[in-house]
Amino acid sequence: MSTALRTTGSASANPTQTTQHAGSSSTALRVEEVVLTYPDGRGRVTAVDSVSLTIERGRSLAVTGPSGSGKSSLLAVSATLTRPDSGQVMLQTPDVLVDLATIDRTRAAELRRTEIGIVFQQSNLLDSLTAREQLEAMAWLGARPSRAARHAARTRAEDLLDVVGLGDMAGRPVGALSGGQRQRVAVARALMGKPSLVLADEPTSALDSESGAAVMDLLLGTTRDLGVALMLVTHDAGLAARCDEQITVVDGAVV
Ligand code: ADP
Ligand code: MG
Repeated sequence: MSTALRTTGSASANPTQTTQHAGSSSTALRVEEVVLTYPDGRGRVTAVDSVSLTIERGRSLAVTGPSGSGKSSLLAVSATLTRPDSGQVMLQTPDVLVDLATIDRTRAAELRRTEIGIVFQQSNLLDSLTAREQLEAMAWLGARPSRAARHAARTRAEDLLDVVGLGDMAGRPVGALSGGQRQRVAVARALMGKPSLVLADEPTSALDSESGAAVMDLLLGTTRDLGVALMLVTHDAGLAARCDEQITVVDGAVV
């Protein structure tokens, strides 16, 4: 893999800033005592029940458990998509330590562009865009990019499509790609912003076993090589076993 794609080992962008750390120096995500409830009739249902976990850079954590146990809710909290009722969700980026449980929507959107990559079961791609355009669009979502930034985005998009084995397909509309290929584009897109953290929710469960295995290889390989922390939500024990660490949740709590 080209060194240009690596996110590890880069010096902190601002040497004058005193950087706190989320625990061990390589901890990317530290979830502390997180509780999330949803309204349920006149009461509340507890979807995440006092969960704590950490993921180091370059390491993977599988979250398993039965349907309805709170896996997706835990991922959504870690992804800034849902704010927990209580607890901390500390993300350590190369520059800053931030509690995702307290930030506003604008900051959350910015972090999802730059520090948090998300892969869902469905790839959520725009069929009319080419594979390369899907990735480049990530760079256009923020401020209007300069010419140099556009060029850098194109280069990174092409490099990432090479990494996921789709270099030849960069100019194809994703509507013409297979399910497995689309999910590989989604993995590349999640890596586009040089994230510290990638969160994947059942990323292979809509795929046949062969292309699912290829997407898993890719997710585990790229995040390890790039020094990205990976949270993989899966109900598949075989996939979970491929991760560095595993937790199981039942009724929202780690068992
Ligand atoms: P899993 O991903 O393990 O299947 P979820 O996190 O989707 O579990 O759901 C955990 C619990 O929270 C379930 O009881 C589910 O019905 C409930 N739940 C999930 N999302 C919502 C929501 N948006 N509103 C109300 N209840 C929800
Ligand atoms: Mg789920």
